[in-house]
Amino acid sequence: MSRIRQLEALEILDSRGRPTIETKCVLASGAVASASVPSGASTGSAEALEHRDRHLERHAGLGVKGAVANVEAPIAKALIGREIDSTHDLDDLLLKLDGTEQKSRLGANALLSVSLAFTRACAIERGVPLYRHFAELGGSHELVFLPRPTINLFSGGLHAGGQVAIQDVLVVPASARTIDEALEMTARVFQSAARLTAERFGARALVADEGGLAPAFESSEEMLVLAVESVERAGLAPGEDVALAVDVAASHFYRDGSYHLDGETLDAAKMVARLDAWVDRYGLVSVEDGLFEDAWDEWALLCRRIGSRTLVLGDDFLVTNPARIDRAILAGSANALLLKVNQIGTLSEAAEAYRKARTAGWRVTVSARSGETEDDWLADLAVGWQGDQIKIGSITRSERLAKYNRLLWIERETKLPMVGWPNR
Ligand code: PGA
Ligand code: ZN
Repeated sequence: MSRIRQLEALEILDSRGRPTIETKCVLASGAVASASVPSGASTGSAEALEHRDRHLERHAGLGVKGAVANVEAPIAKALIGREIDSTHDLDDLLLKLDGTEQKSRLGANALLSVSLAFTRACAIERGVPLYRHFAELGGSHELVFLPRPTINLFSGGLHAGGQVAIQDVLVVPASARTIDEALEMTARVFQSAARLTAERFGARALVADEGGLAPAFESSEEMLVLAVESVERAGLAPGEDVALAVDVAASHFYRDGSYHLDGETLDAAKMVARLDAWVDRYGLVSVEDGLFEDAWDEWALLCRRIGSRTLVLGDDFLVTNPARIDRAILAGSANALLLKVNQIGTLSEAAEAYRKARTAGWRVTVSARSGETEDDWLADLAVGWQGDQIKIGSITRSERLAKYNRLLWIERETKLPMVGWPNR
């Protein structure tokens, strides 16, 4: 049982220079903690809504002063002085207070910042590391392994200049046994990719929103070819030491019933066939958002076609939403969940999404957003909830490294092994 004495919020800036919210929670016991929330660019249309000011003269309408005011007025008024049992209890109160399906009244950003700050303050109050506190919240008390990082190498789509359709090519350090080894191997691949792109494209490649290299590729497949070469040049074996994964983010190049893939126009059947071919050719171990976010029947087709060889991972498709996950389980439309807490807006609902995926035997990738902050709670969440994978972005940029570096400390503290490979 904890009691909130004070809630304070502030509009801060994320890694893209856009406003986001940080909330500080003071408990009656004196425990104090702050937490900030991330924000996406490649958002699913069924995601919970962020509260944005829409005053075009400030931050092009993206300000969050209204969300800050929501924390400091209605939310603080409802919570301060009250005995609160747990984060679940707190989230119930927040959900009732908001009262809308997509959190449009108070904003998912406002709600989540309170939920996270309170949770961290409770962990401090109890004197336990945040990942242990998360483990109890998520219902998995026993911590058995650390998640395996899947790390952004090349970027396209909305996270880069839109030079190619698909959003991310990621590396999965498959033969690494520890986080430390995984990061060292990935850094080696990243350096070799940087050298290779400089040779190929004649200049040092600029990096995209999540820190991935984003040269002027001619096609999405060229990213995959270069990724394999980068692994080889780093002295590692593609598929054995380092496997590849993609976030297709297909909704963002789907228009008028077709997929507009780097100048080609593909129907759903052709898109499925293309992904199938890539899984074979490049040994992809995870295919995220391979199809449009509402193509329910085609997702089932894709899952039948490639699901025994690779993860069929739903991001914009599932938006960490328990009801959508139920439907996908029933239809056999995916076999893995990308978990982003701010897609649903509270930790409790995200925990429910996690449990549903696990009960169905799915794999879970815990994910950051393209707009991140220096906060590192995601690493604790991924360990506490026992995500199989963690997806934070590139091995560069401090808003990403804050989480990788936190994983290194958790590894040292817990001495847990990294999840086994292959983990399907
Ligand atoms: P977003 O994208 O954070 O920009 O929505 C990340 C992803 O698609 O996985
Ligand atoms: Zn995605």
